[in-house]
Amino acid sequence: MTLPQHAWGGGVRVPRHKNLSNTGASRVPPLPARLIYPLRSHIGTAARPIIKPGDRVLRGQCLAQPDTYVSQALHAATSGVVRDIGDFPVAPGDITATCIVIEVDGEGRSVDPWPPLSADADGDAIQRRLVEAGVIGMGGAGFPSHVKVREGLTRTVQTLIINGVECEPYITCDDRLMREHATGIVAGARWLKRAVNAGECFIAVEEDMPEALAALQSHAGEDVTVGSVPAIYPAGGEKQLIKMLTGREVPSKGLPIQAGVLMHNVATAQAVYQAVVEGRPLMSRYVTVTGSVQQPGNWQALLGTPVSHLLQQSGWGGYGKQQVIMGGPMMGMALSHLEVPVTKVTNCLLVQEAARVSMMSMPCIRCGECLRVCPVQLNARALYEYARAGDLDAAQDLHLFDCIECGACAYVCPSHIPLVSYYRQAKAGIAATERRQQTAAENRRRYERHEQRLAADQTAPETAESASPAGTMDKEAMRAEITAAVERVRAKRAANEPPDPTNGGESGAA
Ligand code: SF4
Ligand code: SF4
Repeated sequence: MTLPQHAWGGGVRVPRHKNLSNTGASRVPPLPARLIYPLRSHIGTAARPIIKPGDRVLRGQCLAQPDTYVSQALHAATSGVVRDIGDFPVAPGDITATCIVIEVDGEGRSVDPWPPLSADADGDAIQRRLVEAGVIGMGGAGFPSHVKVREGLTRTVQTLIINGVECEPYITCDDRLMREHATGIVAGARWLKRAVNAGECFIAVEEDMPEALAALQSHAGEDVTVGSVPAIYPAGGEKQLIKMLTGREVPSKGLPIQAGVLMHNVATAQAVYQAVVEGRPLMSRYVTVTGSVQQPGNWQALLGTPVSHLLQQSGWGGYGKQQVIMGGPMMGMALSHLEVPVTKVTNCLLVQEAARVSMMSMPCIRCGECLRVCPVQLNARALYEYARAGDLDAAQDLHLFDCIECGACAYVCPSHIPLVSYYRQAKAGIAATERRQQTAAENRRRYERHEQRLAADQTAPETAESASPAGTMDKEAMRAEITAAVERVRAKRAANEPPDPTNGGESGAA
């Protein structure tokens, strides 16, 4: 059936290149020699390791626990030995992050699964299981799923959307997952719907995914509606799909729940089913490897698998004049390091000729094509001009942060201007400025508090000294100690010491 369809404006029809990788069944790669788990690979704070180097771990064993509400648990995807906890490259770019490294022993020994939740488990119990299982949004953003469920427990959810609209070219991991695991996806959707007491539930796929549609529909019923939407890029964007299916708008900088909607990716729904019914944490995901490789297709990859391993299994020999994109051609990013691991949000590795990735850009001819296709109705040309000129305030005034970096504007630009790169750089520049301002403000507040404490100590009544442990100290020694502490604060501030991320951003001074 066709789902409700409201116009959302913009978008572009792009060559799909899906047949390259979606015709064969997904494959299980051989075990890699090691698995790498970044403690932070999603929105939120890093997980806290509960193992140490030298420990033996089993498949399904928890390696790291969520350290805050917006965080995730990590689990070993097979048995082995913890070899290291340290900084390793993570994708994309040249970023490094703290990772747990497991040397795989090949024995595949597991911990026992958790018992399934009872059929009448409530939203709180489901939420707790999702925390325990480390389920996060697998569609790209990586938002912890339990946080979304919590939002749904406290606010009215009119519509739950399970997003199978895999609109970016080349990527077919969700397509294959829907064909091969429709039972789990629909069951997971039902658990999510019950958890948040949603009024309706839609599972949406694109019109050119007939096999996935048929597989899902065979498990659907009155409580879960499965249907298709036009294959227009980026129909699978969160705000675009919500607008299309409900007619409601998510406010600028707002969340879907403000439009009465919760959205989860199909792979997330499958992970919910595994956690709730099969008692298994999130340990693997489907990853498309496609483009210029000998055997394109989809892999059931263990989380932590180095990208190089999947590329090798797909018959790719090396860089040469090629680039490996993590993600699709529209929103993905080129990898500069192939030992980066597959994480819960890694959907695709696309190998392309470098010449196709970077084309010579020309001056803007003010054709307006970028404005026509923008799904958020931004003035993409003006944003580019402001970003290029470094006028970040003006770019912000034009709602730069509403840009979803879909790349539709760059795709249609006849001058081949890498528009999204300009937007990303502008966003990064604004974020860096805000971080500097926040740090300076916090340092100022801390120093002022310290000065106040110092002044209060100097004017404290003599009688207080006898009641205080400090009262037993020599007054001159006490002042000297305080002065030394203040000097340490000044010295640290002068050195512009970066915040300590392990201490919630506090430097620990003063
Ligand atoms: S599509 Fe490219 S050339 Fe046309 S207005 Fe936009 S930035 Fe300029
Ligand atoms: S990348 Fe941003 S500006 Fe360009 S079309 Fe997408 S949302 Fe609009």
